[in-house]
Amino acid sequence: MTQASSPATMTIGGTAHSATATIDVVNPATGTVFAQAPDCSPAQLDAAFASAATAFGTWRRDEDTRRDLLRACAKALTARTDDIAVLLTTEQGKPLAEAAGEVRSVAAWLTYYADLEIPREITRDDKRGFAEVVRRPIGPVAAITPWNFPLTLAFWKLAPALRAGNTVVLKPSPYTPLSTLLVGEILRDVLPPGVVNTVSGGDRLGALMTAHPLARKISFTGSVETGRRVAAAAAPDLKRVTLELGGNDAAIVLDDADVPAIADKLFWGAFANNGQVCSAVKRVYVPRALHDDLVEALAVRARGVRVGDGATEGVRLGPVNNRPQFDRVSGLVADALARGATAAAGGHPLELSGGQGYFYAPTILTGAEDGTPIVDEEQFGPALPVVPYTELDDAVDRVNAGHFGLGGSVWSADPDRAADVAARLDVGTAWINTHLALAPAQPFGGAKWSGLGVENGPWGLYGFTELQVIHRAR
Ligand code: NAD
Repeated sequence: MTQASSPATMTIGGTAHSATATIDVVNPATGTVFAQAPDCSPAQLDAAFASAATAFGTWRRDEDTRRDLLRACAKALTARTDDIAVLLTTEQGKPLAEAAGEVRSVAAWLTYYADLEIPREITRDDKRGFAEVVRRPIGPVAAITPWNFPLTLAFWKLAPALRAGNTVVLKPSPYTPLSTLLVGEILRDVLPPGVVNTVSGGDRLGALMTAHPLARKISFTGSVETGRRVAAAAAPDLKRVTLELGGNDAAIVLDDADVPAIADKLFWGAFANNGQVCSAVKRVYVPRALHDDLVEALAVRARGVRVGDGATEGVRLGPVNNRPQFDRVSGLVADALARGATAAAGGHPLELSGGQGYFYAPTILTGAEDGTPIVDEEQFGPALPVVPYTELDDAVDRVNAGHFGLGGSVWSADPDRAADVAARLDVGTAWINTHLALAPAQPFGGAKWSGLGVENGPWGLYGFTELQVIHRAR
């Protein structure tokens, strides 16, 4: 697919909206523009928030309707899985099967929140009074997403926000607007006008959303740098904020680990979605005695995995999503090599599709030390440094030393021993003998600079509510 079939439109107040200006959308597998998306004007953004505010008055009232309509959304989107997946692969780069999996995850999240029971919480029931704590929706939500999982991450926001009774204005990344706009088009036939509005545009549009007077809650997923700007923009109006930001997850391999048994899972914990996962393994700490075996086991997989256009059958890793990210990954690896690191696999761009696509060879690096950018920073791409350690306590201290605190994992033949180490990691999720295992019921969020608040589970929904105490005297 090289051309989008019909021009993508925004959904505002339940109707289609194009814009006078547009943004180009590039297929990262070819490096060429294949479609345009509307560049939402400030007046159109006002209209989107106005329609969300109007719809809120009715939408907040009837919980049974909301549950039914969340299920109807899941059904409508599932019925269009193939169309959505093709568009997602073309703008994002991921293999088609994974794009279809992303659509399925959306349905799973919608169904989970439709089914979720929110218990009544009674804090007092005696002869002097009865007090109940209820959770009320907040109002129109500004939802802003990045380009790595445009749909999954949108519905980590939409499903709980809608279930709780809020309405939404959703803005995807300018690199991947089309799948979100298609979702908005499909949901026009399912949801009342104004409940979900989808707008597209550049970063400036995100800033306008976070400053918009009608937005009562901001749910943001993206980089730490932008997250800080979002928090600052929310402050004057005291808008509620949830931030899901970057990570630099470490996998700590213990000295009793069985390298052949863990290598596959560890590799995919780092390279799923071509490493463009906030909570991917981004550095591995391994005892010196296991270092060479582990590096070779990972390097064999990196050399053997099929890289290419995600639309091609059998491809496991697509291109990096966009040129700046491709340059960043290339730059971090080049810097590490210049400092004396060695590439056990990869270490260079890949020339595929005539050399225009953003393909990078899956890279395993040795000899990169703590204190160098590839180890300390978030690479967010297909390059993984493997760092040896001598003392486990020292490795834990090194892992905890940075500003990130999203996830981490510990790998061992003894899960109890691994669990003791996992509990010492300053992270939102500490996995044992796995990484990236996520579920709708499991809260996901980061410590330190990796975020504020959580998504998923009842806790994620609570982030779209405010408490109210109803206290009756007796
Ligand atoms: P980004 O911060 O550049 O952009 C994210 C979104 O914010 C985009 O829609 C962008 O247009 C918008 N935006 C940009 N400037 C804005 C502003 N001033 N105000 C409001 N919105 C603005 O991030 P990205 O490059 O798209 O995504 C990669 C980053 O996202 C990585 O750091 C990754 O770790 C992080 N991420 C985190 C999670 C998580 O759940 N913790 C999940 C996926 C990605």
